[in-house]
Amino acid sequence: MIRHKKAQVVEMEGLTMRWGDISILNNVNLTMKPGETLSIIGPSGSGKSTILRLLAGLLLPTEGRLRLFGKDQNYLRLDQNHPPDVRLVFQNPALLGSLTVKENVSFILRKDKTLSSSEINEKVKRSLSAVGLYDIENKFPGQLSGGMQKRVSFARALINDPIIKEEKMPLLLYDEPTAGLDPIACTRIEDLIVKSTKVANGCSIVVSHVLSTIERTSNRVLLLYGGSFQWDGSIDDFKQSENPFVKQFRGGNLQGPMQAEDI
Ligand code: ADP
Ligand code: MG
Repeated sequence: MIRHKKAQVVEMEGLTMRWGDISILNNVNLTMKPGETLSIIGPSGSGKSTILRLLAGLLLPTEGRLRLFGKDQNYLRLDQNHPPDVRLVFQNPALLGSLTVKENVSFILRKDKTLSSSEINEKVKRSLSAVGLYDIENKFPGQLSGGMQKRVSFARALINDPIIKEEKMPLLLYDEPTAGLDPIACTRIEDLIVKSTKVANGCSIVVSHVLSTIERTSNRVLLLYGGSFQWDGSIDDFKQSENPFVKQFRGGNLQGPMQAEDI
């Protein structure tokens, strides 16, 4: 048997994303290897969420090629029989208010008609306990604190999608998971990202402006500005890089290659 090299997690080649006349991503190339944990940084509007939505199969690029786990992505996730195991934790918890925690967390399990209700209960319990939540299955999101809602959204991302049959390493995507949180809540969520990624045996891409989040969750950093990655390096290089984009980002400086009004 010929042993193939382990597929790359993400490969973008000449990827362009345009809204009308505006190129948000312009001929972008990126390779992410198994075991890498990425942070994507850049000013508001630079296209970070767009990248996550492309990876999650919620959007298709205008031009270029996207491969996930070695497979070309030419269709939206919903239109694929065997979508790749990519899980997006949205910027806001995005829980459905009229459904209980259990119904929210087990939403994707509904696709599998063979699961019994006790099997569903068991899976829900397991993913809730992975994020430190117990005995809240029958509560509604409105009865929970913002932090707990966030944890529930993590649990929802951790639960296994029944239509993904192959046991693979999932790709977990987190969009600004610690924006607007106090430093202690930040630490909790950062721990949760590291733990969730480990529990799922996956790799992660975190979009964040928060230095502690970038440093604690990632071993590689990409800086997006003006439609392309302006910097790509290890977390250690990021901490001391003299690159003007990185220096401006780290220092929060108004002066630098990135326009203040864009930030
Ligand atoms: P970021 O997450 O870095 O703040 P986004 O990826 O959300 O940036 O957005 C990048 C740019 O793309 C923004 O200028 C935004 O207005 C634009 N954009 C995002 N989604 C759409 C859409 N559905 N239609 C038109 N423009 C969009
Ligand atoms: Mg965004």
